[in-house]
Amino acid sequence: MAAQARETDALVLNCTEHGESDVIVTLFCQDVGRLTAIAKGAKKSKRRFVNKLELFSFLHITYELKANRSLAFFADAELHTSFLRLRQNLELYSVASVIREFLLIGVRENEPDTHIFRLSLWALHSLDRQQPPMTILALFLIRFYDYVGYRPDLQTCAQCSSLITSEHRYSFDTASGRIVCSACNPHLKKGLPLSHGTIKMLRSAQDLPLERLHRLKISGSILHEAISLLQGYGNQLFQRDVVSWKIARKFLRR
Ligand SMILES: [Zn+2]
Repeated sequence: MAAQARETDALVLNCTEHGESDVIVTLFCQDVGRLTAIAKGAKKSKRRFVNKLELFSFLHITYELKANRSLAFFADAELHTSFLRLRQNLELYSVASVIREFLLIGVRENEPDTHIFRLSLWALHSLDRQQPPMTILALFLIRFYDYVGYRPDLQTCAQCSSLITSEHRYSFDTASGRIVCSACNPHLKKGLPLSHGTIKMLRSAQDLPLERLHRLKISGSILHEAISLLQGYGNQLFQRDVVSWKIARKFLRR
């Protein structure tokens, strides 16, 4: 049976050259989740794909996928936006790269996810508009973990189940994604220290509608704590090295 042409919106997550003239593109598609597609002749005849097969580009694509084949045929692309700034500024690039790596790890084939797709677009648009990059990264990650099924519990102590209040101090255990109170973990010897300000901010970030997420202002020690927590938790969850953290972290100044 002949493959049917399909259309969808998609983000470019990766590109590798294939043979003399082709390019293999990894996409995050709105309709099917992760998709690997071959752009025939893209290296030689750039007309069809000119300036479109760049990392982070937001496209409207036409592709064909045959039954029992994992590699799709990338027929055509229209550019929604190239997010040009993300490739011109090292801080924006490194933060967008952390996001890109998490999408490569967390988005699966044949598993469309509207929440993650909208969140990714929100984050890339926000970075492109030069909103504070590390804040955008922290907000992206707290929601991303939620959408992939690992929402950190920020309401109760993992050990004694008591509600988190201002009477105790708290730490975060990256292994369980849970908070532990100072009564259960004296002197907060284990885990990452977690202030009330950070807990409050992360809770808001979990529950605000996406359209209002940019209103959360995060800076100073709260941003540092949040990024350390989200990085540690992500490492634990996926057991994979997100290499872009190394450069991105350099932009988190004291
Ligand atoms: Zn406790």
